[in-house]
Amino acid sequence: MIRITDILEKAGQYLDETDIALIEKAYIFSASVHQGQVRLSGEPYLIHPLEVANMLVDMKLDAASIVTGLLHDTIEDTYVTIDEIREAFGKDVTFLVEGLTKISKITFGSKLERQAENFRKMMLAMSTDIRVLLIKLTDRIHNMRTLEYQPLENQQYIAQETLELYAPLANRLGINWMKMELEDLSFKFIHPEEYRRISEKVAQSTEKRIAYMEEVKSIIKGELDKFGLKGEVEGRAKHYYSILKKMQVQQIDVDEIYDLIAYRVILDSDKVKECYEVLSIIHALWRPVTGRFKDFIAVPKANHYQSLHTTVVGPYGERLEVQIRTREMHEWAEKGIASHWQYKEGKAVSAHDADQINRLRELLDIQDQYTNPREFMQNLKIALYSDEVYVFTPQGDVKAFPRGATPIDFAYSIHTDVGNHCIGAKVNRNIVPLKYQLQNGDIVEIIMQPGHNPSKDWLKFAVTQRALSKIRQWTKQEERERSVTLGQELLDKECKRQSVASTKVVKSPEFEDIIKEHGLQNTEDLYVLISYGKISPRHIVNRFLHHEEDRQDKEEEKIGLAERIKRKFKRPSGAAISITGIDDVMVRFAKCCSPLPGDEIVGFITRGRGVSVHEANCPKLSEFDHERIIDVHWNMEKEQIFPVNIRIICRDKTGLLSELSTAISALGVNITYVNLETQLNQTVRCDFQLEVNDLKQFKKIVTSLQKLKNVLTVERIRETLFKKDQT
Ligand code: MN
Repeated sequence: MIRITDILEKAGQYLDETDIALIEKAYIFSASVHQGQVRLSGEPYLIHPLEVANMLVDMKLDAASIVTGLLHDTIEDTYVTIDEIREAFGKDVTFLVEGLTKISKITFGSKLERQAENFRKMMLAMSTDIRVLLIKLTDRIHNMRTLEYQPLENQQYIAQETLELYAPLANRLGINWMKMELEDLSFKFIHPEEYRRISEKVAQSTEKRIAYMEEVKSIIKGELDKFGLKGEVEGRAKHYYSILKKMQVQQIDVDEIYDLIAYRVILDSDKVKECYEVLSIIHALWRPVTGRFKDFIAVPKANHYQSLHTTVVGPYGERLEVQIRTREMHEWAEKGIASHWQYKEGKAVSAHDADQINRLRELLDIQDQYTNPREFMQNLKIALYSDEVYVFTPQGDVKAFPRGATPIDFAYSIHTDVGNHCIGAKVNRNIVPLKYQLQNGDIVEIIMQPGHNPSKDWLKFAVTQRALSKIRQWTKQEERERSVTLGQELLDKECKRQSVASTKVVKSPEFEDIIKEHGLQNTEDLYVLISYGKISPRHIVNRFLHHEEDRQDKEEEKIGLAERIKRKFKRPSGAAISITGIDDVMVRFAKCCSPLPGDEIVGFITRGRGVSVHEANCPKLSEFDHERIIDVHWNMEKEQIFPVNIRIICRDKTGLLSELSTAISALGVNITYVNLETQLNQTVRCDFQLEVNDLKQFKKIVTSLQKLKNVLTVERIRETLFKKDQT
């Protein structure tokens, strides 16, 4: 049984007296609050925090971590409060203990919901302080080591959770021993039968195997010596779970697996080139198995693991796996982030660690996106589990992606803009579809087109959280923009229907009130609700009109009738007409005379439809109430299009229509209506409606038509051409 004195002694080798005193204090505290509690194994509860603290001290973590190891279950399982911990051990330890404390059971409906929420909580805490995760993993290892005391149904659940979530997390941190132990312990409880068979097989013929292993080791060592390379050769049984995976992948039985042992060459020197020397020595010694060589030195794994892996055909024709690495690489491979997290005075986080932590933070993206606990856990597992592929940028930079990643993921990993404007990709210089799955070693180049936008379909084949969230963000934004435009159009339409200027409605206090009443932030939000049909535009306009009438009644005494009506009709700015003294009146052009810029014009204040503009000599004006006629002026800031009607009388010849229309189009004028009528005297009457900018352009058309030899007369007509649309 582990004792506190052992822990203090080990800590004494790298921590100072104050730290040791604090650990001792934590021990006494923990012992007193856990007093009388027993674990399911029947042992005193205190064994558990002691074992956790012991693993942490073996990893040479700092005093706060070890103290937390001793205290990690006090909040959850005793009557100690977080304030008491803070008072006795300070802020740092309190944060860690809190991060490790589960949320109270009562809060949740389902087990899954509780699991999801606890993971969220832990991930948040670990993104601030990675020690939370390191301590959690040691806690889980000890719980797994003593899992047999748990009831059977708990065993399955806990082992499954360990295999799916904690082992991959240990792998992310690069802590190989933890990953292997967690996997093997889970395996033991999930597939007890296979576990037994594999462990027996490995234990069997141990003597024979040790002799064989020693033989292989000494052959390798002999070769190293011959070439003057200094280092160590290790042979060790592979961990059971990796054997199981091999059986599953190759669909073979444990009896058919020959390479139960992995060999490892660890070089004393930190010269990378020596690793390749060893590789060539081994390949010269034994024939390499094709396709089994992996260079994780040139292309490290995402968790920064570096090593050369090869499989060769050994001295007895059996397969033999060898890993080659430097001492430094070995240190990282075994301890991962913990090797850099060891207690060192005032040491800043290295770039390596920072990258590692950033990759873990990516997991946090998941928690923002999935509120449903089932989806959340599912996606967390996928993110943790996914195997990786390594591809190159055209510049030769290496990028790691989960297996199944596509050029879309690649594009977004470079830059959001690259992703958003991506239209295609080249892999190894060949064009591939965007749903192509990246393969190890691919050289990927993204083809972009400015103005091109992401498609919702991409969500089907992007796999990285980054790409998925960027695409979602874009589509959400786009949907919103579309809704805003639609809502605005609906409101405009209603305003037109009721002859109200929409600009005035939008600026009105009533509009502001509606925004507030619905708890909205701004006008755009209101447009979105209109587009969804949640608020009717008619309701908005009616409410405006109701108040507007009141306002106008009050003004009535002050201003004359004409002025008042004028003010009632607002028009959008930039219109073609200005009216003396007023600048925002709704204007339309009378269809009886269709005035063109350049014509002399007057305005007529209609009843309820704004000001209609007529040619000054329009015969209709004589029918109108004189009091309602006002001065208006052309105000052409930019070119606009006006309809005009023209009547051409010409001789009846074939090809007539094309001759006329060619002449008109030659001046860049659009024809919107044509009507031909044959007359009795061998002539044809051609009526056109044209779109012109102004009188000058119209006159040009007339001149050019008059030059045509079959044309007899050309005149502008001031009557409506289409009967059904008369005003
Ligand atoms: Mn615990």
